[in-house]
Amino acid sequence: AAPISLVLATGKLARRGIVLKEASALERLAQLNLIVLDKTGTLTEGKPAVTGVSALNGAPNGLLRLAAAAEERSQHPFAEAIRESARRAGLVVPASASHAAYPGKGIEALVEGKAVAVGNAGFAAERSWPIHRSLQGFAERKEEAGETVVYAFVDGVCAGAFALADSVKRTSKEAVEDLKREGIRVLLATGDHPSAAKKAAGLTGIRDVHASMLPDQKAALIRRLQGDGLVVAMAGDGWNDAPALAAADVGIAMGGGTEAALDAGDMTLLRSRLTGISEALQISRLTVRNIR
Ligand code: ADP
Ligand code: MG
Repeated sequence: AAPISLVLATGKLARRGIVLKEASALERLAQLNLIVLDKTGTLTEGKPAVTGVSALNGAPNGLLRLAAAAEERSQHPFAEAIRESARRAGLVVPASASHAAYPGKGIEALVEGKAVAVGNAGFAAERSWPIHRSLQGFAERKEEAGETVVYAFVDGVCAGAFALADSVKRTSKEAVEDLKREGIRVLLATGDHPSAAKKAAGLTGIRDVHASMLPDQKAALIRRLQGDGLVVAMAGDGWNDAPALAAADVGIAMGGGTEAALDAGDMTLLRSRLTGISEALQISRLTVRNIR
């Protein structure tokens, strides 16, 4: 049975919106050396917006209409942003079928008899779909500003690009500073492009950045760090973070996150603010000191 002090600490944390699945997570938290933070939805709000469309043939709204249709079934924040942008433009989005999602890469669906795909440069390269040269300027400008660019293809032919931007949560910088002050190393791991990763890291004071990571690579990073003898926490919100949350010594799920992340985590931050982590850390250290 858990000692009374662990039970008391669990209650104290719950009042701050920090919920533990098991009191034993507190003992691992007290020994923490390093934390890996996901970007989208964890460090950032996870509500990106489309900031630009570059269409190769015809009006941007024509491309937006096709992309919004292809993204119909995707739960990815980029899909929601593209659909929202089409809604705002007052577009009538056609029906789509045969939806396929490629984690960390993009999506594909049939729209009006054509195969419409939306995804990143890696996704295009994998399928040997060339990205049109005339999109280079748009992509460079947007990526330099820390935004993310995804490309649209119709029947394997490049049709244009979308730029998306997300904002860092108001509390993230303070949360990273607090963790560093407690002697915890902080890393960023994201499936997003290095440009967007570096921007979010720069705004919050994180130096160690791992971008373009697939879900399994996030988990492999955690295991590698554990192999160095470190006690590692992971904070994330997406189903793509679930393998890493499960691998970590302490998996921390954002309250607003996906069910997969909530299931895989040991601890949930109901208010989705990363400042809850250092609060929990301090309480865990005091509690464990009292037990020993
Ligand atoms: P994160 O680790 O930041 O949560 P993801 O693994 O969810 O990132 O996605 C990584 C990248 O895969 C995105 O930046 C985007 O380029 C691409 N991607 C994934 N899903 C989609 C989608 N539905 N539409 C467009 N691009 C997508
Ligand atoms: Mg995320």
